[in-house]
Amino acid sequence: MAWEIVVGIETHTQLLTRSKMFSGAPNAFGAAPNTQACAVDIALPGTLPVANRAAIEHAIRFGLAVNGRISPRSVFARKNYFYPDLPKGYQISQYEIPVVQGGTFRFFADKIEKSIRLTRAHLEEDAGKSLHENFSDVTGIDLNRAGTPLLEIVTEPELRGAKEAVAYARALHVLVVWIGICDGNMQEGSFRCDANVSVRKTGDEKLGTRCEIKNLNSFRFMEQAIEYEAARQIEVLEGGGSIVQQTRLYDADRNETRSMRSKEDVQDYRYFPDPDLLPLVISEQDIERVRASMPELPETKRAKLIEAGVPPAQANQITSDIELTRYTVSAIRDASRIATQTVSSLIVGPLSARLNQDNISIDKSKMSADQLRILAQRMEDGTLSGKLAKEIIDAAWAGEGNVDEIIEKRGLRQISDSGAIEKIVDEVLAANAKQVADYRAGKEKAFNSLVGQVMKRSQGKANPAQVNEVLRRKLTSA
Ligand code: ADP
Ligand code: MG
Repeated sequence: MAWEIVVGIETHTQLLTRSKMFSGAPNAFGAAPNTQACAVDIALPGTLPVANRAAIEHAIRFGLAVNGRISPRSVFARKNYFYPDLPKGYQISQYEIPVVQGGTFRFFADKIEKSIRLTRAHLEEDAGKSLHENFSDVTGIDLNRAGTPLLEIVTEPELRGAKEAVAYARALHVLVVWIGICDGNMQEGSFRCDANVSVRKTGDEKLGTRCEIKNLNSFRFMEQAIEYEAARQIEVLEGGGSIVQQTRLYDADRNETRSMRSKEDVQDYRYFPDPDLLPLVISEQDIERVRASMPELPETKRAKLIEAGVPPAQANQITSDIELTRYTVSAIRDASRIATQTVSSLIVGPLSARLNQDNISIDKSKMSADQLRILAQRMEDGTLSGKLAKEIIDAAWAGEGNVDEIIEKRGLRQISDSGAIEKIVDEVLAANAKQVADYRAGKEKAFNSLVGQVMKRSQGKANPAQVNEVLRRKLTSA
């Protein structure tokens, strides 16, 4: 029996602002407990919230990026519940009218472009944190996070399966970092997803009952959690049982989801408009001002790179990072299509490998976009064999100078002198009688092995095309 897995994702994106959503306390991670919570955040009587303009502009940026409707008038509401890390007894959120309504988001899952509808994105404040580690018998409360601005981004239940859900979340992560509204730091909780999962028989119209898995802050865990949860639901249904709507937690150590609580109903929260805050009014001018400051989006940049000659898979990889994209655009400017491919292959290949090895981002690269462009040119004009690109990048990292200096100092100029190449080929043929015989007996592999030997003997400097040509000629003529 075939089952279809249905997923809807809610993402809590911490907004990159200096101060909190409704107070002037700093919005920064990692300070000593309770040193960044002001009177508003700890809910002293008589304090009043004031909405943060930067957070609102970030919400508008997001709305524009996904082509959503920016509400001209939205309302902050109180979501009431009791919890020790929520001193007010309610969280300020948006309920009936969110700041962004609808929108669509396109992303790639397994190389296929998908489009998903967004339900809404609303502004709210984060709660504080309850600390259980390092305490016995009591729970510690840290209110530094209380009041942190969040944009909650909600999708329609249109994702199919764990892989597609993760592809969506990864692409959304790229977008919110790209447009500068979130620092994207998942370890610090800046981007947390809840996955709503249900299953239904393939072909059924009606959605199954869902369970919501809370607070997934790694893509790997998200994939495992959804897979586990879907398998659990299928097992229950196939055993003749039914699914109870629940909030569940994912336990990564055991790779399982566990029930946390039965799902609250909306009425449990007793939402009502917060009388301390005016409705949020956004004018056309506000929207136009934000629009004017928007960067070109990843999908637009991606299309432009492909248009310039970057292979699609490489363009995908490059446009997952706005800085890497800027670097690439600078390195390929005015280059031919062929040269563009050489540049982009160097960027996603040896350059990215080197950055990963040092665990640094492109802005810390020890090879500038201009130098990378020269490196590609030296490969194009035959000065340098492509096999030595990695050596040049490593030498640049070691501070040995610019590309041309490194080629000269290390004597890496490609050998394109046919006399010199013939001499090396003759030496290799003389020393490898067996492979020569194998080749003549029809074993094409022997040819590759001989090419390898010639390249090795030339320390990687022989022009590979010439080596092939000379070798082929000598083997067939003699
Ligand atoms: P709540 O705010 O109580 O979590 P919502 O109705 O806002 O509930 O839905 C939250 C998320 O659950 C949305 O992303 C939505 O797409 C998803 N969702 C709703 N129904 C289902 C379902 N049957 N299966 C999977 N996901 C669902
Ligand atoms: Mg929810």
